[in-house]
Amino acid sequence: MARPAPRPNFLSLAPYAHADLTAPPGVRRIQLAQNELALPASPAAIEAATRALADANLYAENGELRLMDAVAASERLEPSQIWCTAGSMEAIRLVTAAYLGPGDEAVTSAYGYLFFATAVQMAGAALVRVPECGLRPDIDAMLAAVTPATRIVYLVNPGNPTAAMVPASEVERLRRELRDDILLLIDAAYADFVTAHGYESGAALARAGTATLVLRTFSKAHGLAGLRIGWAVGPADVVDVLSRTNAQFTMAAPSIAAAIASLADRGHLAACLEATIAARSWTIDALTRIGFAPLPSETNFVLLPFERDGEPAPDDAAGAYAHLKREGIIVRPMRAYALDHCLRITIGTRSDMEAVVASLAGWRRAAN
Ligand code: PLP
Repeated sequence: MARPAPRPNFLSLAPYAHADLTAPPGVRRIQLAQNELALPASPAAIEAATRALADANLYAENGELRLMDAVAASERLEPSQIWCTAGSMEAIRLVTAAYLGPGDEAVTSAYGYLFFATAVQMAGAALVRVPECGLRPDIDAMLAAVTPATRIVYLVNPGNPTAAMVPASEVERLRRELRDDILLLIDAAYADFVTAHGYESGAALARAGTATLVLRTFSKAHGLAGLRIGWAVGPADVVDVLSRTNAQFTMAAPSIAAAIASLADRGHLAACLEATIAARSWTIDALTRIGFAPLPSETNFVLLPFERDGEPAPDDAAGAYAHLKREGIIVRPMRAYALDHCLRITIGTRSDMEAVVASLAGWRRAAN
């Protein structure tokens, strides 16, 4: 019997590998695998979403316009420079569909977010992944990878899974040296967690009218990952094209209500950032004290490499992962990024992180 034939580029998409988030039976689970906020969202946001549920029979009335206004006010931009979506993943898919097609190319750095590859493949285009230099995007190499077919350059800043930050001066240089007709898409999902000097999300480049689009999300610092909502900042002509791609109804009304309330609750955001950044510093110091070498982090996670005699030690990473899991602590192996000697650990509460450090210390004693 004949079956509908999907386009070949869809057939070759790798099936999504769901993370194993289970703990052994009877063991308390500490889930640190998905870079979510460890703390609950703003009570005002939860209340607004709950209230909106009472009207679940209705579409959100001009919800995206209300959210655009709220984001524009909070970012001091015009609503015409804001595009709202059901999370950054939807934004990445739609931007890619809008600007890339068969025969086109896009460039990203080796550890750019994995979903870029999926979006580019769905568009039938080709993605060039440029090796990084010391687990940081190599801006010169990215510029050298641009060809006449390049239409989009993707940059995650700060990076996932590396947690490294590219300074504003380097991002500005990247923009300056790219052709004006190439869209620079900066995924700044973790922007709120940056404490290092010299960072800027890229919104200044978008504000200045260059072809730069900066993706932000309510999933991380705002603690609304389950509600699937985000925004982007870009020049009005790019936003105009993009806003034609998602009509009006991809964002759920409770999500819109929660996002607007969360933006207004600045005190809650500040408290969550302070707690996360304090737990991050504590974790990096504590892991370093017991002989690990976690990478510096400007995000709400740390990348932890395992080495023996200066060489990558994937078996140690796998052993530590299994040891943590036996104790109910779920972190993320990095095989998908070809960093099998690393584990990525989301920053949880201080007591979660104390459990991680104690467990890794136990693994180390047993392994050596
Ligand atoms: N971009 C990066 C770099 C991420 O790490 C993630 C989630 O982990 C996302 C985007 C997903 O964002 P959203 O939840 O808004 O789709």
